[in-house]
Amino acid sequence: MSTRGPRRIGIMGGTFDPIHHGHLVAASEVAHLFGLDEVVFVPTGQPWQKTRRKVAPAEDRYLMTVIATASNPRFSVSRIDIDRAGPTYTVDTLREMRELHGPDTEFFFITGADALEQMLAWHNADEMFELAHFIGCTRPGHSLADPGLPAGRVSLVEVPALSISSTECRERVEAGEPIWYLVPDGIVQYINKRRLYEDGTC
Ligand code: ATP
Ligand code: MG
Repeated sequence: MSTRGPRRIGIMGGTFDPIHHGHLVAASEVAHLFGLDEVVFVPTGQPWQKTRRKVAPAEDRYLMTVIATASNPRFSVSRIDIDRAGPTYTVDTLREMRELHGPDTEFFFITGADALEQMLAWHNADEMFELAHFIGCTRPGHSLADPGLPAGRVSLVEVPALSISSTECRERVEAGEPIWYLVPDGIVQYINKRRLYEDGTC
């Protein structure tokens, strides 16, 4: 148990279709820099931003996230978004985490800088910034334009060069190209076993 004040929990929301080493390095780096006690990965139910493409079944994305994070004692996975009916909105995730953990917890929502830029357009942005501190991870080749985010509630962190994206992983699987070392070994094996992304519909 920590003796240095409120528990500090990172929340890493994502489609995780599939989870890759970019996600894991970002979570690990932010946990280190912000002294987090735990990082909870929260796979989305139906992501409202991704309605134009088919997303792999929530249960597969959840299991891949569990497999990828199992070896890290500070990483865990929550089903709250996939068990909630309807599209996933970050503000619902944050409200539910707040209810589960009580007022004595500080939340740090970890997100890519690309997503951070869109945040002002998100539902209930003002409430979200009250519920958590937001940490935007910059990817290689991505510079953050000033999105006019509220001062003091947002930090930017440069994550070691990892230009991996789930889109690239899916495209590679469809093209028969390897994804070894872009994702954990167990994820390569799970994708093979479940034949995910082979037909390009995901
Ligand atoms: P897609 O290519 O399908 O959009 P993705 O790789 O961006 O997938 P998501 O599940 O959408 O993965 O991302 C979850 C969160 O992780 C988002 O906040 C995203 O910005 C962030 N993220 C994704 N890839 C990286 C990376 N390589 N480094 C740091 N953060 C990342
Ligand atoms: Mg993305």
